Amino acid sequence: MKTIRELSNELKNKTLTSEELVRSCLKKIEEENEALNAFIWISPTAIDEAKEIDRRREAGEELGVLAGIPIAVKDNILVQGWEITAGSQMLEGHMSAYNATVIERLKNAGAILIGRTNMDEFAMGSSTETSHYGATKNPHDRTKVPGGSSGGSAVAVAAGFVPCALGSDTGGSVRQPASLCGVVGLKPTYGRVSRYGLIPMASSLDQIGPFTLTVEDAALVMEVIEGKDENDATSIELASTTAPELIEPDVKGLRVGLPKEYFVAGMDAELRARIDEAVKKFEAAGAVIKEVSLPHAKYALAAYYIVAPSEITSNLGRLDGLRYGYHSQGSNLLDTYEQTRGEGFGPEVKRRIMLGSYTLSAGYYDAYYKKALQIRTLIKQDFDEALKEVDVILTPTSPSVAWDLGAKFNDPLTMYLSDIYTVTANLAAIPAISIPCGTAHGLPVGLQLMGRAFDEHMLYRVGMWFEKK
Ligand code: GLN
Repeated sequence: MKTIRELSNELKNKTLTSEELVRSCLKKIEEENEALNAFIWISPTAIDEAKEIDRRREAGEELGVLAGIPIAVKDNILVQGWEITAGSQMLEGHMSAYNATVIERLKNAGAILIGRTNMDEFAMGSSTETSHYGATKNPHDRTKVPGGSSGGSAVAVAAGFVPCALGSDTGGSVRQPASLCGVVGLKPTYGRVSRYGLIPMASSLDQIGPFTLTVEDAALVMEVIEGKDENDATSIELASTTAPELIEPDVKGLRVGLPKEYFVAGMDAELRARIDEAVKKFEAAGAVIKEVSLPHAKYALAAYYIVAPSEITSNLGRLDGLRYGYHSQGSNLLDTYEQTRGEGFGPEVKRRIMLGSYTLSAGYYDAYYKKALQIRTLIKQDFDEALKEVDVILTPTSPSVAWDLGAKFNDPLTMYLSDIYTVTANLAAIPAISIPCGTAHGLPVGLQLMGRAFDEHMLYRVGMWFEKK
């Protein structure tokens, strides 16, 4: 698969039509999707939409970079008229009544939405195995997980089905599958991209972000989807940003921070070697490598797994069998709630709802939820301090490469540990990107760069430099 930039140039120069491009994507999907289970549904109108873009181009209309480019959508982002399930039986048959803001913006830019990608149920998971639609497989080795929860979107790009897919990242669900599948994945600063029309998991942590083949492509997609939205009060008016083509990929004199708490024993040795080599490349190019400290990072997972379930409990309360999707009739109202939720939700979702109900309950609120919020603030302060001393923070994205399907499925705590390097950026509301960084044990390794709030530009600049090395 070529990059968005390359495809866009071909479309513009008329050496390729959008119809041809979409047909070739659909062909590949038809041949390989059954084995990988990246897409759970394909839009029947994609070819017609592509023809319409070709017609407008022929008519001499000035079209943007994304016009005619096929994009896949995670099954928790609303596209009007499409079914939306968030990978859950609970929402089976539920139709989106309106477009998410990101979808509205992509459509206005002429992007062709190809279909819905598989995901962990309600975005809870790190392996795309909790989906009602079955597990997604890693294209580098089909016996391995693709990461999660946006595993379908990561695989759609990694397998060459589409040049771009949207995911959502609450604790790593864009970056971690990007890392395990060998593509680029960006979690923007909280507030940079509207969450309107994203089925919420944990609203204070959720952000929509792109999967692409290159950092430049991620920046191109961000230009279209980011910015203030009156339908999301947490979205922010952005100062004008540099166009991706004007960014100078360069790291000379930049200060790159390595958190000492992250580089400890226990990290996979071969993966560690790839990260160490990356650090050497930065040094050789004139970057200043500095050790930084994130003293509260050791509490990040614990805090995340209290804050997130608390918000999950409250967000999923609306799924009662009466207002949306699945319904199982009981002999009275309480039975109906219990039956619907008992049958409609899978075990991981139930576990989180129970955890969140517990941490928010009267007797435990102060001991757990409040404490977790206090730790969250300390973690944010750690990052603020560290990012005064350095321009970016460099870590692995995931402590290991892709693991065997099923290996961690019945062991939630081990599964949660795979988020150890990613949840902090969500807690601190800062931007972070995962970029391919070679292989270990024959499987992709991801390098994570984290930056100051709203300074995605720095991640683009450093990331573009790194991927050329
Ligand atoms: N794997 C993490 C979790 O299960 C993150 C999920 C996400 O980012 N949506 O909570």
